[in-house]
Amino acid sequence: MANNEDLLKKIIAHSKEYGFIFQSSEIYDGLSAAYDYGQNGVELKNNIKDYWWKSMVQYHENIVGLDSAIFMHPTVWKASGHVDAFNDPMIDNKDSKKRYRADVLVEDYLAKIEDKIKKEVNKARKRFGDDFDEKQFLATNKRVLDRQAKIDEIKGRFVDALEKNDLVALKKLIEDLEIKCPLSGSKNWTDVRQFNLMFSTQFGSLSEGANQIYLRPETAQGIFVNYLNVQKTGRMKLPFGIAQIGKAFRNEIVARQFIFRMREFEQMEMQFFVKPGEEIKWFNYWKEERMKWHLSLGIPESYYRFHEHDKLAHYANAAFDIDFDFPMGFKEIEGIHSRTDFDLEAHQKMSGKKIQYFDNEENKSYVPYVVETSIGLDRTFLAILTFAYTEEKLEDGSERVVMKIPPFLAPIKAAVLPLTKKDGLPEKARKIMDNLKYDYNCHYEEKDTIGRRYRRQDAIGTPYCITVDHQTLEDNTVTIRERDSMKQERIPMEKISGIIGEKICSVL
Ligand code: ATP
Repeated sequence: MANNEDLLKKIIAHSKEYGFIFQSSEIYDGLSAAYDYGQNGVELKNNIKDYWWKSMVQYHENIVGLDSAIFMHPTVWKASGHVDAFNDPMIDNKDSKKRYRADVLVEDYLAKIEDKIKKEVNKARKRFGDDFDEKQFLATNKRVLDRQAKIDEIKGRFVDALEKNDLVALKKLIEDLEIKCPLSGSKNWTDVRQFNLMFSTQFGSLSEGANQIYLRPETAQGIFVNYLNVQKTGRMKLPFGIAQIGKAFRNEIVARQFIFRMREFEQMEMQFFVKPGEEIKWFNYWKEERMKWHLSLGIPESYYRFHEHDKLAHYANAAFDIDFDFPMGFKEIEGIHSRTDFDLEAHQKMSGKKIQYFDNEENKSYVPYVVETSIGLDRTFLAILTFAYTEEKLEDGSERVVMKIPPFLAPIKAAVLPLTKKDGLPEKARKIMDNLKYDYNCHYEEKDTIGRRYRRQDAIGTPYCITVDHQTLEDNTVTIRERDSMKQERIPMEKISGIIGEKICSVL
């Protein structure tokens, strides 16, 4: 299981070495919290997008897609509440000059206490063995109860401060908990201030009287302002969904942890429009559906958990996150939110246009309610790398790093490798490559020893290596090597495509 900074460092180094992810503008020393996807990264990213799109749009008859512009009328963000309320509370340590999110400092403090409880539970489990009753232990152990009481008290003050937007109370909480700056070790904090996360820019030339507009901080609003267009032209009936994949931009106060928190990132969002009063039923439905989607990637259940929001956003009446066990611990990968009629109502008011649904059965019009599923593409990418990165010691004493990427998402499905560069082997291998490449993304390589070439393919997660040798010239058979087991099998050439297809289609 993950949970160590070392693993994150290894993933970052591996991603760079094998063309998954590069720092943006690296030759100019990089731009913080912006990353570029390299030759293998872009393939993996496209495969994730493709799978999400198929699962949401193609497999649901009542969900359609959209690709709205990143630039939107500035009033959109006034209506959505982002101009007034899309803030994070920030605080600076006066000694280290480091900036932090005040809420995250408290959350990290709470996580440490929760960790201590977990350790107590593990210790007790070891001590009592099979007889251990976790529920009873949690309900009766004095040390656990004291810690839980402390968590409850801090959470009470924390949620109250956030809900009332009381920045003084938030600072007082940080002081009372004696939270120290991890860098300077001091408790010398500035006041807590609000910081709006939207990037703004000028639209049009200044001589035209340019307008200040925003880079969208979420893709959802592009869906809301197109609700009527899609509903009318697609003759959609409630309940129905609109899905979109696209870039979003947030001027995050603290953007560390690789592609987990970037200032430019990609979201895959689906807004599901329902009859008022039915939103909680659909919220529960999508909560379960989305968890099933994550598990369908082949990543074990223990990497995931639901997390209920302590504080609801201004637009929500229910909200759960799906958290993933990243190398930094459990953190949000996807949000499922019941957004009520907040957005459509607000756009209706601001635009003066009627944004409603005519319900034939009830013979009346109303503003639909919305359930949203919002997953970060980059965080899904990082989750897959976290699960896939594996260091193995082999029987002959050597080591390999293998990326156990789910085969249907792997950047390259098969590598075609002539054993040597002579005797007509490359020509034969080329023929195989030409046969496969229209169906699967394949890689042809003849340089280096076969062992080295296998290692390179392991490192980028290629499920199959196909080796052409002298016997191939005689009887048209090749060896096919499977990435995880490293087992090699001799098969007739014409079976290659079917074997690859079977492996990568098992999920789709
Ligand atoms: P967090 O609490 O981590 O800042 P959030 O609750 O603000 O996230 P949402 O507004 O619910 O996030 O956005 C939906 C999804 O978009 C998140 O679950 C996450 O996967 C992704 N996401 C949000 N912010 C970022 C970011 N800065 N970098 C990468 N992905 C992000």
